Formats: sequence, C-alpha cells, structure tokens
Amino acid sequence: MNHYDLLGERIDSIELKCLVVSRGVKVAKEVYRRFAKTNRLGINPLMCNCMIFSDGVIAQLTDMGFHLSYLTGILSWDNLKLLKYARELETRFSLKIVDGKPALFYDDAFLDFVTFAPKTDFYAQKTSSGLPFMGNAVLQGLDWVAFQCLWPCEFAASGKPCQFCFSGAEHEALARRKKGLPKPVGAADAAEIVRYAVEEVGCSSVQLTGGSTFNSAQESGYITSYLKAIDQMIGRDNIKGEILLYITPPDDLAVIDEYFALGASRIACSLELWDEALAAAVTPGKIAIRTRKKYLDALEYTVNRFGAGKAFSNFIIGIEPFESLREGAIYLAERGIMPTASIWMPMGRPVMNSMQPPGIDYYRRVKELFAELYQKYDLEPPKTGGLNVCMERDIWNYSVGRIG
Ligand code: SF4
Repeated sequence: MNHYDLLGERIDSIELKCLVVSRGVKVAKEVYRRFAKTNRLGINPLMCNCMIFSDGVIAQLTDMGFHLSYLTGILSWDNLKLLKYARELETRFSLKIVDGKPALFYDDAFLDFVTFAPKTDFYAQKTSSGLPFMGNAVLQGLDWVAFQCLWPCEFAASGKPCQFCFSGAEHEALARRKKGLPKPVGAADAAEIVRYAVEEVGCSSVQLTGGSTFNSAQESGYITSYLKAIDQMIGRDNIKGEILLYITPPDDLAVIDEYFALGASRIACSLELWDEALAAAVTPGKIAIRTRKKYLDALEYTVNRFGAGKAFSNFIIGIEPFESLREGAIYLAERGIMPTASIWMPMGRPVMNSMQPPGIDYYRRVKELFAELYQKYDLEPPKTGGLNVCMERDIWNYSVGRIG
C-alpha cells in the first residue's frame, strides 16, 4: 500500500482516498483533453468519474470546478442556497499532467500518478424504450454498475429527506411544488442497463437501490421484477459477482427469502448513522417513519436466515462523532451484520448546516476499527475491486495485509 506525506503526517492510500473523496479535486482542463477520448472520464458529474492510485485503490473524482457550475446550472433555488457553503468547498487537491501522465497534488506537493478506467460508451446509451443510462445508472470502480434511485423516495416526498441525499432533496422539492415524482425505472430498462454493463463494460456486480417507501408490497413488487428481468435477460449465473439490494425494511420479512431465491447476494437496510438523536435530525424518515427497530429487525432476520455477512448496513463516514459510529459498528458486527463505510461527500448537501468533513485522524480510526471488526467477526465484503466512495473492500484488503 502506498504511503504519502501530507500535512506533516504519513498517510496511507485509504486515508488519502477519504480525503480526496470528501474534499474533491480541481481537475485541469488538460486532463480531460488528454484522457477523455481514451478513458472513462468526462465533464458531466453524472458520470461519477474515478481515479486509481498507483497501488490500485480507487477513489471518486469530483471536480470541484465543475461541481459548483453544475449546481448553479441545473438546479433550483433550493440548491442555489447551497452556494453559501461554497467557501467550505474549496479544495487543495488538484489533478494535473506531469510527463504526460495524470498526477495528483496537494497544493504544490506531488502525491501520486493516477490512472483512469478504460473508455466505455456506457453513458451514451439509451435503453430500447429510450431511457438514457446517464442519470439513471453509474459505473463504480472497475466492477460495479449501480443505480441512483430506481424508484422514488416517498419518505423524502413526505418532507423527511435525509440531509445528505441528493435524490431525496430532488424528490422533496418536486413534491413541495406539487410536481409528480419520477416513475420507477422499468424492469426491462434496468435489466438492459445491467446487460450492457456486464457484457460490454465487463462489470461483475450490481447494486439495486431505490428510495424508501411506505408501501412495502409495492416496493417488493419493484425489486422482484428487477431480479426476474435481470435473470431472464442476462442469466444470474452470467453475473459473476454479487447483486446487492438496498431496501426499506419490509412489513413482511419473508420477502427477503424471495429476494435471495431470485439471486440477491446480500441485503442492506442502511442506518447511515448510529447516534439516534442525530439520526432523527439527519435521516428523519428512517427514524420517524420506519423506526430504528424495523431496520435492526430486518438485518437480524437476514443474518439469522442466511448467515453472517449476508446483511449489511451502510454508515456515512464523517457525519457523527467517532464514538457513536464505533458503538454502532460493534453492535452490528457482533450480530453478524456487516457495517459498511461510505465516505461523506459534503459537496452533495450540507448536513446540520455544515459542509466540513473530518480530518485524517477520524478516518484512520474508522479504518482501524472496521478492519478489526471484519477480521474478528469474519465479515468479508464482496470480492471485487474497490468502489468510488465506499471503502469496505479497501479496508478488508488492508485487514488481511493485502495492502499495507
Ligand atoms: S431514505 Fe434513502 S433515498 Fe430517501 S432521502 Fe434517505 S437516503 Fe435518500
């Protein structure tokens, strides 16, 4: 694993990933000019660019120049209000060209040469019904295709979006203006996108994600239709990695059995934060509408039926104090539920009126804690390369000494 000197400290590449994901990067125009034709790199933020450090760790590449103009260009007054936080969004990371190669800097200090994923036409595609891939699905790292929000978030539409969630903010704003919510992505459209990602891009794994819903039977109808369409169009066996489902805890936990029977590999009911008082403010729908207990019941049901590690819960890393995050991660891991770690990207939305991410020490403690828990409770994240924003696989590799 690479090590770097930054801010008077020696940091490793997982810690560097946390810093660049949470702070963004200024990307020189020359980088796009040189690499957009030969690599998966584009100026549209919906492409979720990533960069690969020289030891293979993958990190989301949010270009802060484009990010701010994107917010001002396409979004509503609600989002323009975000600009008052713009000062907090200044980044000291930059990507320039050195000796013909893309190089990551912190101020004037060279950190690493990076590479990009291979070129793909994924984002130029539409499904046969005309649904554009761009804006509906993203490629993550080298192995994953993920969907932004396959069905709308009813918690957000009822006025209780999670503060950090971009889709939730959009759905809340639409509902407030009495405009209709987007229709769920059709099962055939979703399967076509997965087929392209698997057959043309070489993805091995899929994340199916939607909003949180009031109507449990309707949500399970969506999910079973996606799983069936994927199996019919591609064949579950032809997806060599995992299919992860991110769901609202269902009324009838037996639908979880059906999801596994239809090819799901693991199920997430994500808590996002452990501190319940803070979670009530940051994720109001999850706490007030569905309740913490329902999330834990669904997670425990899944591991009791299907085994340790078959259920997981995402935490947004950087929002809550380390101590409460630690308490939550231990609580879950002790029960065989894998805590996963998604780095908070404050440039998405302010949380508790702040866009200020934590420092190196916080991320280091999270890395050490999760590494210890993964080993102690034998919780191994999917055997793929890393993701853009999540770091569970990176931490697993660190915990087994594969990097480090
Ligand atoms: S419940 Fe899920 S989709 Fe809805 S606002 Fe929260 S994170 Fe976003």
